[in-house]
Amino acid sequence: ALPNKPLGELKAVRDPEVEEREVDILIVGGGMAACGTAFEIKKWSGDKKVLLVDKAAMDRSGAVAQGLSAINTYIGENAPEDYVRMVRNDLMGIVREDLIFDLGCHVDDSVHLFEEWGLPIWKKSEDGKNMDGKKGLAMGSLKKGAKPVRTGKWQIMINGESYKRVVAEAAKLALGEDNILERVFIVELLNDANDPGRIAGAVGFSVRENKVYIIKAKAIMVACGGAVNIYQPRSVGEGKGRAWYPVWNSGSTYTMALRAGAELSMMENRFTPARFKDGYGPVGAWFLLFKAKALNGLGENFAASDAAKAELQNYAPYGTAAITPTCLRNHLMLFEMKAGRGPIIMDTVTALAELGKTMDKKELKHLESEAWEDFLDMTCGQANLWCAQNCEPEKKNSEVMPTEPYLLGSHSGCCGIWTSGPDYDWVPDSYKIKAKNGKVYNRMTTVDGLFTSGDGVACSGHKFSSGSHAEGRIAAKEMVKYVRDNADFTPTIKETKDELVDMVYKPVRVFLDSCDYTTAIDINPNYIKPNGMMYRLMKATHEYGAGTATYYMTSEKNLEVLMDLFEMMREDCEKLAAGDLHELMRCWEIYHRIYTVEAHCRHIQFRKETRYPGFYYNADHPGQDDANWFCFTNSTYDKAANQWNLKKVDYHKIIPDA
Ligand code: FAD
Repeated sequence: ALPNKPLGELKAVRDPEVEEREVDILIVGGGMAACGTAFEIKKWSGDKKVLLVDKAAMDRSGAVAQGLSAINTYIGENAPEDYVRMVRNDLMGIVREDLIFDLGCHVDDSVHLFEEWGLPIWKKSEDGKNMDGKKGLAMGSLKKGAKPVRTGKWQIMINGESYKRVVAEAAKLALGEDNILERVFIVELLNDANDPGRIAGAVGFSVRENKVYIIKAKAIMVACGGAVNIYQPRSVGEGKGRAWYPVWNSGSTYTMALRAGAELSMMENRFTPARFKDGYGPVGAWFLLFKAKALNGLGENFAASDAAKAELQNYAPYGTAAITPTCLRNHLMLFEMKAGRGPIIMDTVTALAELGKTMDKKELKHLESEAWEDFLDMTCGQANLWCAQNCEPEKKNSEVMPTEPYLLGSHSGCCGIWTSGPDYDWVPDSYKIKAKNGKVYNRMTTVDGLFTSGDGVACSGHKFSSGSHAEGRIAAKEMVKYVRDNADFTPTIKETKDELVDMVYKPVRVFLDSCDYTTAIDINPNYIKPNGMMYRLMKATHEYGAGTATYYMTSEKNLEVLMDLFEMMREDCEKLAAGDLHELMRCWEIYHRIYTVEAHCRHIQFRKETRYPGFYYNADHPGQDDANWFCFTNSTYDKAANQWNLKKVDYHKIIPDA
C-alpha cells in the first residue's frame, strides 16, 4: 500500500457531497466516439459550455484501452458506395445506408488526424514491400498519398499499443482538462420537466470520492460503448474477468437511452466473434495477413467443402457473396462442432511454413514477431496464454472458438439507438427525425437534444475505431447547431436534489440499513450484492437467451421464461447493496446490463425469423423470412408504465448492387 493510503476501496457514506453543474453540451463517455466529439466541438461551439464525463480515465478507457494493431475502416482508394455494400452484406441486408455512406465519406479524415498526432501507420515502400509503422514513416503520410499496408480491403495496419492515448491526448487538449470529469459514472439521463420528450440533464457519481453529480444540459451525447458480461462468459473460475469485449462497457448507452424514451433499433443483433480460445486473441491478422486456414478436428478445411458451400446457398445472396458474412462463418463452425467434428483449429504452422517458402530467415523471424505483436498490441492476455502453454505458432496450432454474445453497434454488429440520418435530399424522410423546431439533426435520437455515436448508433456496424471517432465529430457539429437553434431553451429537472441522490446512493443506504444484521457481509436476507445479481443474470441468459450453453439456440418458450426472470431481477434490484464505491459502480453496471440484455431478448422474441444464424437461432422460426421480416425492428420502453413496445420500420435500399 502507498503510505497513508488505506487498503481496499473507499467506503461509501449515506450522505454524499453533491455537485450541481449547468452546461450547454454534455458528452457522456470518453471512448473513440466521445474523443472525436471532444476534439471537434470546440471549433464550432464558441462560448458554449461543454463538459465530458467518463467513467474511467480517458487515456485508457473504452474498447481501445489496450491498443489495436489495425484500423479497420479506411476507405482510401475504395468508394464509399462499396463500403456500404460490404456492410450491408455482412449484416444480412438490413442496414441504414444513409448513415453508412455518410460515415464512409468522412472516416478517412480521422485516420489522417491520428497519423498527424503521432500514430505509426504501416506503409508500402516503392518496391511494394510492407513496412512497419516506424520504417513506414519514411514513406510519407497517407494524406499526401502514401499507400497503407492493407490486410483486407478496408483494414490498415498500425503500431497501435498507444492508440487510445494518442487520440485521448488530442481530445483533452482540444476540450481543455477543466471541461473533463474522469472516473464519474453517469447512471441516468433526465428528461425535461416541462417537455418529457426532451433531454435536460444527467446524474452520476464519482467512483473515487463520495460525491454525486447532477448536470443540466441542453444537448447530450451518450456514447458509452456496447455491452459485455450480459451472458455467462466462456472464461470461468481462474479465467473469470477475461472477455473479448472490454469488461467496463456495461450497456449504459442503451439502458440510459431507452429509459429516457429513445427508440432502439435492431437490438436482436449481437456479435459472437470467433477468437483464439480462452485468450480471446484476434484472428483477423492470421486469416488476412498470414493466410492461415481454420480446420475442423479431422484436419479438414471445412469452410471450403461442398457441404459448406451448399449450406451457404441457403443464405443467398449474402452467403454466396465473395466475402462470407461474419455470422455465417460462425454458423459453419458451429455446424462442425455440433456434428462432433470439433475442435476448430487455426493452422498457424502451415501458414507460417508457406510464407517461409517465399522469405529469407530474417524476414520470416520478423513475421513471427509480428504474430506475437498482433496480440501484444491489443490482447496481451493471449500472448501470456501462448507462453503459459508453450505455444509457438510456427510449431503448434491453436484452437478457435465462438465467444459468448456481446452487444455493440460499431464493430461487426448493428444494435443500438435509432437516429436521424443526414438532411440530404437522397435520404428517405422516414430516416430523418424532426426535432420539435422542425429541423433535422444528424445522429440525433428520437429524444430531442439527445445524440449518440459509435456503438450507440444502430443499423450501421463496421465503423470500428476510426469510424466511431469520425461519427463523434459529425455529431459534435450537429449538437452545436441544435444548441444554437434552441437558444431560448432552459433545461429543467423534475426530480429534486434529494430524490436524485436517493436514487444514485440507494444501494449504499440499503447496505447501511442492514449490514449489521449478519456476520457474513455478503449474505443478508435484506439485500443482494451485485456479484450475486451478476451470476443470476448470466445464468438466466446463458440457459434461456441463446447463450453458449445451447449453442446460441433459443425458442418462444425459453424467451417467455426469461422475460419472467428479467422482471424478477429488476424487482430485486431495489435491494441491491453496496458497501463501497466499487460495489456501487457494480450495482449500476448490473442494472444497466439487465435492461440492455432484456431489450436484446425482447427484440429476438419480436423478430419471427433467424436473421443472423451463427450469432443466434430461434428454434420456432429457423431461417430467414424476407417476405415478412426484411425490415428494421424498433422498440421503446415506457418507464412509468414499465412497458415495452416493438414495431417494424421500413428498410430503404439507397445504394444499388454493384
Ligand atoms: P468505446 O471506445 O468503447 O468507449 C466507451 C466509453 O464510455 C469509455 O470511455 C467508457 O469508459 C465510457 N463509459 C462507459 N459507461 C459509462 C458511463 N455509464 N458513464 C460514463 N462513461 C461511461 N477497431 C478497429 O478499428 N480496429 C481493430 O482492430 C479493432 N479491434 C477491436 C477489438 C475489440 C476487442 C473491440 C471490443 C473493439 C475493436 N475495435 C477495433 C472497435 C473499436 O474499438 C470500437 O468501434 C470503438 O472503440 C467504439 O467507440 P465508442 O466510443 O462507441 O466506445
